[in-house]
Amino acid sequence: MSTVEIARPAAATAQESEQAATTDGFHLVIDALKLNDIDTIFGLVGIPITDLARLAQAEGMRFIGFRHEQNAGNAAAIHGYMTQKPGICLTVSAPGFLNGLTALANATTNCFPMILISGSSEREIVDLQQGDYEEMDQLNAAKPYAKAAYRVLHAEDIGIGIARAIRAAVSGRPGGVYLDLPAKLLAQTIDAVKAKQSLVKVVDAAPRQLPAPDSVKRALDVIKGAKRPLILLGKGAAYAQADKQIRELVEKSGIPYLPMSMAKGLLPDTHAQSASAARSFVLQEADCVVLIGARLNWLLAHGKGKTWGAAPKRFVQIDIAPTEIDSNVAIEAPLIGDIGSCVTELVAGIDANFPKPPSEWIAAVTEKKNKNLEKMAATLAKNPSPMSFHSALRAIRDVLKTRPDINVVNEGANTLDYARAVIDMYEPRRRFDSGTWGIMGIGMGFAIGAAVTSGTQVVAIEGDSAFGFSGMELETICRYDLPVCTIVFNNNGVYKGTDVNPTGGKDLAPTVFVKGARYDKMIEAFGGVGFNATTPEELTQALQEAIKSGKPTLINAVIDEAAGTESGRLTNLNPQSGVKK
Ligand code: ADP
Repeated sequence: MSTVEIARPAAATAQESEQAATTDGFHLVIDALKLNDIDTIFGLVGIPITDLARLAQAEGMRFIGFRHEQNAGNAAAIHGYMTQKPGICLTVSAPGFLNGLTALANATTNCFPMILISGSSEREIVDLQQGDYEEMDQLNAAKPYAKAAYRVLHAEDIGIGIARAIRAAVSGRPGGVYLDLPAKLLAQTIDAVKAKQSLVKVVDAAPRQLPAPDSVKRALDVIKGAKRPLILLGKGAAYAQADKQIRELVEKSGIPYLPMSMAKGLLPDTHAQSASAARSFVLQEADCVVLIGARLNWLLAHGKGKTWGAAPKRFVQIDIAPTEIDSNVAIEAPLIGDIGSCVTELVAGIDANFPKPPSEWIAAVTEKKNKNLEKMAATLAKNPSPMSFHSALRAIRDVLKTRPDINVVNEGANTLDYARAVIDMYEPRRRFDSGTWGIMGIGMGFAIGAAVTSGTQVVAIEGDSAFGFSGMELETICRYDLPVCTIVFNNNGVYKGTDVNPTGGKDLAPTVFVKGARYDKMIEAFGGVGFNATTPEELTQALQEAIKSGKPTLINAVIDEAAGTESGRLTNLNPQSGVKK
């Protein structure tokens, strides 16, 4: 299975040319992907898919090889989010598959279209549990974590299998799809003409879904009656690529808007109607909230409780998934359809007679916003030594302001919380972060996915703990010479680096890392450029140089080890035992 022979097994000799030309499973998988305009595979080779990767490259596709499947999967997922085409992750069987499955589950949770393709062992042996090499019932293992899962057993079904996977990944609510390809299938030969006929070019993979006219009217009526309306944009709105329509809705209605973290930049964060700096105030005070591609999950306190204040709310919700409606609170006006179509209909309903939000509401939001911005400016202006999260972020913010086209990846606890608030975004789909699960470990995968997909600069702002989950991909970044600058906020530990072992024993506290670690040295091992920054000035200079070079770079940003709060902003989710820290 691991031969390097990748030439199409078509008639090569005189004797063979008398027989009908044949092809095989390997070639058909690549043909089916290419036919559907898929040009990149993220993955990690091994038995039984090494030749599939080689063949993909030989046939003109890009194969981006990783050091761990989870990172390849995360890159594929972000590729899907950026392009509306499923990102492909290719793995070996059993453990490789399971590593990729984490990313598939994360993609499904975040509504990113992705297909995890894994090679697998022989069905006959797996099903009788006879102990095959890397034996695992991968199809059933994938099902609970994927939007759909398929297995192809016959070469003539490869075309249909890939078509079903593509359609499942991108239609309706996007998500992760698992495609199981047993080793035997890849080696199967099939008549070339029959094979060609079996391929399927997917037509209109994510059809527009127009909202019902009565739903549109109901939504407009609810918005019309509002005294303190608010538009809440989620990453579904960014994914939908309905940027123009959304801007029109916001500006034509005059309603303040709040972007969820990955919707930042859909309109520039500096837009006059952005209520980001008055987030708590508008969530509490609004009497009508128009949710556009945002779920009322934990990130929005489930639409109730203290976060949402005492004032009763009326909700309008635009979503492509009807079952999302009423998931946490009653939605008075659901608008089911694709965001582009739904927003277009709302915009059409906002005529000259449509009431503007009362001026007292706009004034109250503006006042709160300005006050909070002033407070933030004072915090950012401080210059402690060692650097605080804020003084480091000020330096980064000022550099990124000059390059609105830069992709920003962000994960960590405090590093995520503070960066989200401080770093302004100016263009849609430029911010990629911990997302719906609020997880660590997406960093280098998302950074590589964003760099490969956009071909432009990425700046990954990473907590030192978060970075550790995918740090080995620095080699991948260097190998593909990607324009990724990773900034590690190094405060010597998880949350912070000052905890002590209460027993006085030799082991460090569970939250503490090697003190004074030099993450910048890691990238130098692979030929990248490392910087060590201990002041905002050094950080500014390093980042400017890194961006100018467009080369793989890493900045070790030394942050006060006492800075940082436990669990960042999520203290309430972390039960405390009372053990001394
Ligand atoms: P955030 O975390 O930013 O609040 P979520 O991931 O919770 O965003 O919500 C995204 C929502 O957008 C999901 O409910 C999903 O069904 C929806 N969605 C995704 N794409 C579209 C689309 N093209 N049209 C309508 N809704 C969409």
